[in-house]
Amino acid sequence: MSGDRAQLTGDEARHLAAVMRARVGDQIVLFDGSGAEFLAEVTALRKQVADLTIVERRAISRELARELTLAVALPKGERQKWLVEKATELGVTRLIPLITERGIAEPVPSALDRLRRSVIEACKQCGRNRLMEIALPVLVGELFATALAGTCVLADPNGQPLSAIQLESGVAVTAAVGPEGGFTDEELSAARHHGWQFVSLGRSILRVETAAIAMAAWGGTQ
Ligand code: SAH
Repeated sequence: MSGDRAQLTGDEARHLAAVMRARVGDQIVLFDGSGAEFLAEVTALRKQVADLTIVERRAISRELARELTLAVALPKGERQKWLVEKATELGVTRLIPLITERGIAEPVPSALDRLRRSVIEACKQCGRNRLMEIALPVLVGELFATALAGTCVLADPNGQPLSAIQLESGVAVTAAVGPEGGFTDEELSAARHHGWQFVSLGRSILRVETAAIAMAAWGGTQ
């Protein structure tokens, strides 16, 4: 995007014409993923390219009051995509795919790219103008051993209730969620050793994506 003109190409141009049914002269809202929004007018529409004129730049923050990181041993396929979509909507700052003993294989670069495309789709749908970051996969032991700023919580059915955790406003939160097979005893001891607090989301055993979204909703609204 440069000066007062912008251009959409490829998928985004097709989306504008075919899905949004935009016409020359229409005003639309653009975002570049960095936290700014632009009111823009469509000046030309071709099959693969849309030309736009920027009418107004708006610096609107739609982000949470705290930095919220979800570190999750991702489920497979559609459930993984669902998790990414909902986490984006809920304002999660960053998703870290966790490599755990009992988890599925770590996502390959093409899978991470697919997830990043899901983030863009979710942002367009919900109006968020800053992209949720999909970080590179991290070994669970490394995550636990890293001195992270803020409050670190691990979702565990035997943990304390969420209401027992005092979150100061604006303080960063990192929440870890294990794989379908659960964290191993060694992984849990490492987390405990490094000061992670264990929190329960109730008496049912939740699927990974349910636990992740419950943690995101809690961390984002406290
Ligand atoms: N097989 C495991 C459950 C794994 S569920 C077992 O029987 O214990 C996948 C992950 O979701 C868990 O590692 C945990 O992080 C989270 N989780 C599931 N249910 C939860 C609950 N009731 N409270 C907190 N975390 C939960």
